[in-house]
Amino acid sequence: MELKICHLYPDILNLYGDRGNVLCMQKRLQWRGMDVSVSTASVGESFKASDYDLFFIGGGQDFEQEVLLPDLQGAKTREIKAAIEDGKTFLAICGGYQMLGQYYKTWDGEQCDFIGAIDIYTEGIKKRMIGNYAFTFDELPGNHVVGFENHSGKTYLGSGVRPMGRVLKGYGNNGEDHQEGARYKNVFATYSHGCLLPKNPALCDFILAETLKRKYGSVELSPLPDQLENSAHQYMEKRLL
Ligand code: GLN
Repeated sequence: MELKICHLYPDILNLYGDRGNVLCMQKRLQWRGMDVSVSTASVGESFKASDYDLFFIGGGQDFEQEVLLPDLQGAKTREIKAAIEDGKTFLAICGGYQMLGQYYKTWDGEQCDFIGAIDIYTEGIKKRMIGNYAFTFDELPGNHVVGFENHSGKTYLGSGVRPMGRVLKGYGNNGEDHQEGARYKNVFATYSHGCLLPKNPALCDFILAETLKRKYGSVELSPLPDQLENSAHQYMEKRLL
């Protein structure tokens, strides 16, 4: 078995080491004897969505999001939308999450029209939402996700998009409706930066299993010795909840 990963804008959208999530997916597949290739596509580089199984987009500040806009429009928007509708997996973090949506209006009135691949929109407030936080993941009942958020944007979900889960501690999508992240087809979008997947191995395996299922039909991921990962997870869970 083989998964092909495409990391979009790795040099520009990589706050808090978001790239670690790509390494985590790669390692957890390799440890199970699977082949993984990781390619990148940044400004001025084209990609064909049909060449890949899974796409990763990290977070970035308002400035970087604005810088990317012209490059994102046109061919890249078409490829991303087609891949999402085709059921390819997307893991998008914070600024990358916002960019899949309709628009982001910054707290000082600047409007960025994004690609509208999923029905969400984001509006900024002056006071940033920052801190370690925790949320449920609806598809893994009983499992809490621990993460770190830092955003000014409040994101609201439209019809057809559901949250990843419910905020247990922290702000999540907007600090109002207790929702965190967005799920649409095989899109997993979240405000959780940095070592999201290393600290939440169950979530990582869920995303990998969904991707492998789409490509190969049913798939069973063998367990890994996750003592270290689980103790990092439990430590944060205990601190937060
Ligand atoms: N610029 C966005 C915000 O502040 C995203 C920030 C980020 O990716 N951390 O809401």
